[in-house]
Amino acid sequence: MKTQILYIEDNEQNQYLVRYLLEAEGYAVTLAADGSEGIKLATEAPPDLILLDIQLPGMDGYQVARILKKIPSLATIPIVAVTSYAMVGDRERALASGCDGYIEKPVDPDNFVAQIERYLPVHLRKTD
Ligand code: MN
Repeated sequence: MKTQILYIEDNEQNQYLVRYLLEAEGYAVTLAADGSEGIKLATEAPPDLILLDIQLPGMDGYQVARILKKIPSLATIPIVAVTSYAMVGDRERALASGCDGYIEKPVDPDNFVAQIERYLPVHLRKTD
């Protein structure tokens, strides 16, 4: 069974790049273009990890993280914010909203998989 990663992101270039990088290492990736879709997909089929853009149409990523963490069946799934909000305080705000980690855009193709794997249990990681 492949490790399942849900990526909630509205930008097609980021969707494409992240899916490509993760699938190349053997991960299964599901995409959601906004928070509502992401919450729906996570509820229907809980993933092993959620990657979350902050700047999303409709509710922002902070709201999405808060909602996901309140759903008992999803509360233990790690959420990593992937965001270009590289301003002082954004990391703290992401963590305060329930995110377990924070990765800054632009996505670094050489390090991205290693960065997200820090938030996965060892037995679910595909590289080391
Ligand atoms: Mn966005």
